[in-house]
Amino acid sequence: MVAITDSLVRLGLTARDKEDAIRQAAAILAGEGSVDPAYGDSMLARERQVPTYLGSGIAIPHGLRGDAGMVRRTAVAVAQFPDGVDWGDGQTVHLAIGIAAQSDEHVQVLAALTGVLQEPELAEALGRTRDKGDILRALGGAAAPAAPSAPAVMPDGYDHRLPAEITGHAGLHARPATAFATLARSFAAEILVGHGGKLANGKSMAALLTLGAERGTVLEIGARGPDGAQAVRALADAVASGLGDADEPEPPAPEARAAAAVPYRGAVRRGVPASPGLAIARTHRLRHAAPAALEEAPAGDPAEEAKRLEAALARAHEELRALQAEVSARSGSKQAAIFLAHQEMVDDPELVGAARARVAQGLSASAAWRAVTDARAREMESLSDKLLAERGRDVRDVGARVVRILSGAPEAPGIVLPEHPVILLAEDLAPSDTAGLDVKRVLGLATALGGPNSHTAILARALGLPAVAGLGEAILQIPDGTEAVLDGDGGVLLPEPDEHDRALAGAARTERQAADAEARAAAYRPAFTRDNHRLETVANIGTPAEAAAAVQAGAEGVGLLRTEFLFLDRDSAPDEEEQFQALHAMTEALRGLPLIVRTLDIGGDKELPYLRLPREDNPFLGIRGLRLCLQRPDLFGPQLRAIARAARAAPAGAVKVMFPMVASVEEYREGRAALEAVRAELGAPPMEVGIMVEVPSVATMADVLAREVDFFSVGTNDLTQYVLAMDRMHPALATRADGLHPAVLRLIGQVVKAAHAEGKWVGVCGNLAAERAACAILVGLGVDELSVSPPSVPELKARIRGLRLADARRLAERALACGTAAEVRALS
Ligand code: PEP
Ligand code: MG
Repeated sequence: MVAITDSLVRLGLTARDKEDAIRQAAAILAGEGSVDPAYGDSMLARERQVPTYLGSGIAIPHGLRGDAGMVRRTAVAVAQFPDGVDWGDGQTVHLAIGIAAQSDEHVQVLAALTGVLQEPELAEALGRTRDKGDILRALGGAAAPAAPSAPAVMPDGYDHRLPAEITGHAGLHARPATAFATLARSFAAEILVGHGGKLANGKSMAALLTLGAERGTVLEIGARGPDGAQAVRALADAVASGLGDADEPEPPAPEARAAAAVPYRGAVRRGVPASPGLAIARTHRLRHAAPAALEEAPAGDPAEEAKRLEAALARAHEELRALQAEVSARSGSKQAAIFLAHQEMVDDPELVGAARARVAQGLSASAAWRAVTDARAREMESLSDKLLAERGRDVRDVGARVVRILSGAPEAPGIVLPEHPVILLAEDLAPSDTAGLDVKRVLGLATALGGPNSHTAILARALGLPAVAGLGEAILQIPDGTEAVLDGDGGVLLPEPDEHDRALAGAARTERQAADAEARAAAYRPAFTRDNHRLETVANIGTPAEAAAAVQAGAEGVGLLRTEFLFLDRDSAPDEEEQFQALHAMTEALRGLPLIVRTLDIGGDKELPYLRLPREDNPFLGIRGLRLCLQRPDLFGPQLRAIARAARAAPAGAVKVMFPMVASVEEYREGRAALEAVRAELGAPPMEVGIMVEVPSVATMADVLAREVDFFSVGTNDLTQYVLAMDRMHPALATRADGLHPAVLRLIGQVVKAAHAEGKWVGVCGNLAAERAACAILVGLGVDELSVSPPSVPELKARIRGLRLADARRLAERALACGTAAEVRALS
């Protein structure tokens, strides 16, 4: 039985928000030595899985089950917030009852709580009381369980009865009780549950909690009514199978992984780990440059200026419409709505009318437009309504766009950065934004949207920049210049760290740097497992500079050259010669190490505006990758020629070709035939040709394809999104699109078997290859090559050296037998 003691009750607290309140409850427990300091993170992670609001202003934050090891002594702490704390979903909490339980003792407290829950006035009084005794009496007193020996007396008429034993680790706590009540409500029969001399309405979660049923308790389920027999059977079965709670491991929750990381005590913002590493710097919100200091052109003839203004407004409208479509395709229409608002601003009759009037008075088009938009922006910024004041910034943006067009400056101005190093905060980053980042000044990326498979994440890893994605829009309100810690391993951003947290972050960064240095020192040796199994460790690159970086990092070649990066950030496609020069520079840098050139993979999340491809409702399922190239010989031809010429100039066998997004044998054959024709014409040497495994159809047909291809490389980023039907860019789904899902692993295993049967090799070049938890499983599945961003190569090699193939195989077998990604993650 858990006793709540005086020292565990704190009255009259205030909290900034729910996270703060939970941390305070955790701090009470930690202060009494009941839990490790990191337990607060575990409580927050748990809260994100299942909110712990119970009702009547009471919440019961508690840690992840997997973190029971952090609990030194079972205890319950009561944190009272008389002013209330917003718990989300319109709920306000006055009592946060923090539970630290090694097993199921806290069920007694829940039982006591339900008495309070059923008396809202009592709950309200406890939320305000200045007397700890009131709380101790209400929770301690009512908590005494009824004697388990006393039998429950089922009333007459409840003729259908069955016993059922509680098997879940934590007894009949809130979640299983909810499952029970929900199932019970699907029957017409009245249902009672008896235990220890008490009876509870089986359709009420709160009533069920009053039973205080621990693990091993045998409940008596009784039903009265026409479907009573089915009801008791179904409910008894549900209880026997754990009410969804029995052996369910904690989900992978990136936040759970984060919880095990650095135990900051400040109010961290949690997102998804997107790229490892730790940065401590001032924040800076992403802004693009205003057009280069514009020479204010002297006003010409007013009629001419008026025409220029109209043309610039029309062009701005066009640009904004394209931007809206692009953002909408990439991130959804909600995110794109701002560009719709911008379009309305360039059409705003008042703004346009005022600008025209000024032009008529002799001002130049740009001076007139700047004057009216500045005036409007100032007016809005002075409003006390924050939201409206914010819109002032948009008016300035639109103002700058039109002025830039009038100046004849090119479309995409670069990112403006202050002189000092920063952590860049952005809603999301376009691939070209991230690719062009100055890594001397940008030490880390924190984005409101996106997930671990977004291109921001991929590029951040390639640049060796720590990054956290999916942090939520609120980060965009952090004022520029705020000192912050960005923890890419833990997936957190911590603005304004105190001394303690800054020291923790500094120590973690030093530790990481030391580990990196150690791994780098061993990077030039090949990676063998402890039982002498060799894994090819290669790099994913996009530019010639990265080819050199890959060699320096100890990569044994390039497993994936994303050739689309040669096409980004420009107004037209590079021609054959330019592509050849880039490929040649890479083979030179690689000095005979293999270079796997993936042909152009455009479409889906990778767009090239200058190609003006028709909009598609479903770009991820449309004309992309190899499909697009087969339809566009004007793009494919020059690229294949450049590859063949690079192969001709490189050491024998160094250049290999790989087709992306192959969905069928026919597509592969067509691509190979196109390459072969070019190769023969140019007299280039034969090249190995492989395919990316990104589409489930190709994974399932791997046995057929294995007879024709020279190798496979699994693109887990796309394969995961197509297998799980979860868009890798989706703000809400990206975190759940987990490459360690058994469905993905089974397909990889299947491809490896099929390939090895034909003597072909299999690599993995998606992000999963760089995931700590995935390495042993992929090795165990028999994958021959792992391809990661250059900075990750040393660490990957170190990880492989720590494995035993035999153990990895066993682990992989267990992973394949798992039912969920969470179970797979729980294995390691
Ligand atoms: C993949 O899909 O896993 C992959 C490596 O390709 P990309 O991320 O470029 O789509
Ligand atoms: Mg892909």
